[in-house]
Amino acid sequence: MRKPVIVGNWKMNMTVSEAKSLLEEIKEKDLDQEVEAGVCTPAVDLPIAAELLEGTDINFGGENMYYEESGAFTGEISPLMLTDIGADYVILGHSERRDIFGEDDKLINEKVLSAFSHDLTPILCCGESLEEREANKQEEKVKAQLTADLADVSEEDIKKLIIAYEPIWAIGTGKTASAEDAEAMCAFIRNLIAELYSEDAAEAVRIQYGGSVKPANVKELMAKENIDGALVGGASLKADDFADLVNHRK
Ligand code: PEP
Repeated sequence: MRKPVIVGNWKMNMTVSEAKSLLEEIKEKDLDQEVEAGVCTPAVDLPIAAELLEGTDINFGGENMYYEESGAFTGEISPLMLTDIGADYVILGHSERRDIFGEDDKLINEKVLSAFSHDLTPILCCGESLEEREANKQEEKVKAQLTADLADVSEEDIKKLIIAYEPIWAIGTGKTASAEDAEAMCAFIRNLIAELYSEDAAEAVRIQYGGSVKPANVKELMAKENIDGALVGGASLKADDFADLVNHRK
């Protein structure tokens, strides 16, 4: 059985004082223990997340990292910095990193390999643009991304991976993919993992949907067989909404 996993992606939001208030509010919530919950925060908020979430069941992580441990990479943070502070996850290959900052699959693959070698769980994002969806190229796009991003990842590591299927046209737009379309792509991804690895790996890998997930649509999405969780932007910035997402089964 795959444990459901709901993770907030704060993006470039939350000053340290705002992060402190939000985390304090989240900590007060009675969260479903059967659901894995976490927040991925801007780098400056990681120390406050580490401090306030210590001793709770809420995980935390970075929104990005470079693959080297240290060196002349101005502006970057490293896997060692994330593990040293106790981070559990790192989001890699988010469409905003790919599209705004020009990250390509080769770089993302280096980051995925580095995350695994530092015992960080990558939340690897993939997904098609509106033009690709309209041309019915979503499967081709996601297959190309994942095949390249996962090059040389071992069978053992792949089972620990979280994949976030995030159609770009649904991120931050208020447009959610229908639960059927989201399920079809998550099923496609699981089959791809079976082809690239094994049935066991496909059964173990957790696949999130991301794109305007909110309390009003989370139940329908999470009821689907191949959707194991959600990566959530906007709605993760409000403690009540975040708690409702984690508690979608209550
Ligand atoms: C995201 O940032 O990964 C995301 C899915 O954002 P939103 O929930 O705001 O669409």
